[in-house]
Amino acid sequence: MDTQGLLSSVFGFDGFRPGQEEIVEAVAAGRDVLAIMPTGGGKSLCFQLPALMRDGLTVVISPLIALMRDQVQGLQAAGVAAGALTSGNTEEENDAVFAALTAGELKLLYMAPERLASGGTLPLLRRSNVSLIAVDEAHCVSQWGHDFRPDYLRIGDLKRALGVPLAAFTATADEETQAEIVRRLFDGVQPESFLRGFDRPNIHLAFAVKDSPRRQILGFAAARKGQSGIVYCGTRAKTESLAKALSDAGHLALAYHGGMEPDRRREVERRFQQEDELIVVATVAFGMGIDKPDIRWVAHADLPKSVESYYQEIGRAGRDGAPAETLTLFGPDDIRFRRTQIDESLAPPERRAADHARLNALLGIADAQVCRRQTLLKFFGEETSPCGHCDLCDTPPELFDGTTAVRKALSAVLRCDQGFGAGHLIDVLMGKMTDKVRQWNHDQLSVFGIGKEYDKRQWNAIFRQMMGADLLRPDPERHGALYMTEPAMPILKGEAEVTLRKDTLAKSRKGPVAKA
Ligand code: ADP
Ligand code: ZN
Repeated sequence: MDTQGLLSSVFGFDGFRPGQEEIVEAVAAGRDVLAIMPTGGGKSLCFQLPALMRDGLTVVISPLIALMRDQVQGLQAAGVAAGALTSGNTEEENDAVFAALTAGELKLLYMAPERLASGGTLPLLRRSNVSLIAVDEAHCVSQWGHDFRPDYLRIGDLKRALGVPLAAFTATADEETQAEIVRRLFDGVQPESFLRGFDRPNIHLAFAVKDSPRRQILGFAAARKGQSGIVYCGTRAKTESLAKALSDAGHLALAYHGGMEPDRRREVERRFQQEDELIVVATVAFGMGIDKPDIRWVAHADLPKSVESYYQEIGRAGRDGAPAETLTLFGPDDIRFRRTQIDESLAPPERRAADHARLNALLGIADAQVCRRQTLLKFFGEETSPCGHCDLCDTPPELFDGTTAVRKALSAVLRCDQGFGAGHLIDVLMGKMTDKVRQWNHDQLSVFGIGKEYDKRQWNAIFRQMMGADLLRPDPERHGALYMTEPAMPILKGEAEVTLRKDTLAKSRKGPVAKA
């Protein structure tokens, strides 16, 4: 199976997080690697995935028994042969690990550094076809740091004895510690190092509420005529129609999606790689393996499915470091579509909950009230100051106290028994006598007509921000009827307040802000 296939089938991720792809590639290729990533950045994938890509066994040295257990359980649940040798193991657990090792069935073996002190460990590993050593919390090898673990000093011997590549991971970035890791784990030979932060400062970030997506994308492309760019769409059909609209507007544009003949797809990839002015209008199938440094812009005609996908897709722009522009369109339909997609997936409940959380993170960026980059990087564990290079830094949004509006909307949701979508709820709030209102006698409700101060478009924006803040969710069992989540309760009860963005409530909006 290819990398992308393993990533989604084993780990349930739809894309790499910043930095992961390059590290996975280097580790899988058998190079010595030192990777520094912030906590929560996704280090474990960077050795777990290569472990599955390589023949033989990967030994993972980690100082944290609880964490080892968690990871082993997670891997086993995903069908990966993993085991741990820790001081907390029962006799039976140890026997099972030894048996799997002897049978050559194990892909990952976790152990605490203290294991290396036991005389039997090296002979055991020598017999076990080890092809990679991964070291978590590699700064523990540093005698000056506060986490020093003497047994980490044995890892260098282990590497020498087995003659296999080693990948070291840590969140500690100071230079002294790095130098010490290189000295003690790699015998002083500089490994391939990944120390980059997640920020891609040359990429300008912008979102816009979708009102007339075709016009918005055409406007964005028109301001960048003759530059190579990618437009990502949610459906195959849309890639075709949007590519045609762009061609009609005088651009060189081609569609690309998984349903096309492989020959045709390769042709588009080849042309994109070689030509300077081509726009590819694509589904997410496009991009893996595209290595074009001078993509000048990326636009999303539809909201991506998670913060990781967003980062990965915009990250294809401006690899050469020169300025690049992005625009991501989003609207209530996108949110509904993505939520339903998650709920209807066959994934186990925890994974679906995690997918909702990743979508929420993206929606948090979409409806961010301060610097988008700050919001994005914070999700990946990096604290930064406002970037000065996103649409919100360019023009800070006006905010207002939306508590009353949100409380009215939540009351309507409750009075209508959490059984209706935003369209009907808005009719009720605005006091519209529709057939559906009549049919359900909703004109008799206390909330009927209490929201006349906003028009339909403004209420839509309020509902969207509420969905973005995960106060409301569509119920997949009831055709996407909106129901209230836990965090909505205190607002309804008057115990919490909500700030909303005013600009998204503007009565009429003019297209996307296309910077010259
Ligand atoms: P670290 O060890 O760097 O602190 P972890 O490896 O524990 O971080 O990962 C942190 C979180 O990020 C985990 O919940 C993991 O499931 C999630 N994660 C890692 N990689 C990805 C990815 N490519 N897409 C989505 N989530 C990811
Ligand atoms: Zn910013």
